[in-house]
Amino acid sequence: MAYRFQISANLLTWPRKCACCGDSADKHLKASASRTTGKRVRTTKTSWWEVPYCSSCLNHKASFESAGSWLLAGFLFGIVTWYFAASASNSGLIGFIAGVILLLLSFWPYRQAVKVAKLKMKPGCCSPGAAVQYIEWHGTMHTFVFKNKSYLDSFLSSNSGKKRSDIKEI
Ligand SMILES: [Zn+2]
Ligand SMILES: [Zn+2]
Repeated sequence: MAYRFQISANLLTWPRKCACCGDSADKHLKASASRTTGKRVRTTKTSWWEVPYCSSCLNHKASFESAGSWLLAGFLFGIVTWYFAASASNSGLIGFIAGVILLLLSFWPYRQAVKVAKLKMKPGCCSPGAAVQYIEWHGTMHTFVFKNKSYLDSFLSSNSGKKRSDIKEI
């Protein structure tokens, strides 16, 4: 379960608790959003908030994200293998099969890495990956997705004076 909402503010108050597990936070992590504007001259702007986390949650988040890079690596090496196996064997089919085998092989370290990330999670953790996602902004209106309901509640009460949308469950 995740909760999406918009809040209007120049400055937001982040409760001093881990956004993932709710324990006391000793670290920060940037949740950033980028946007590109302009037709002839394109400029990309990035904006971010420092979200409090505890070190053990940053640890499982990093493991979880490294799992994703296994899949990406498997995909890229799969394409390279496809190309070389196809030209070496003079058969597109053999190249294709070799590429698919390599991609399938990368699922094993991927699943292991996801398992490691999940083992590092505490019972109170809400997600192996990011607990707060910063989606976009327009002026002072910021869109977030929070994964942890009780962190969301304390965030909203710390920022109760600010204008915001309804909370949508996604
Ligand atoms: Zn935590
Ligand atoms: Zn956690």
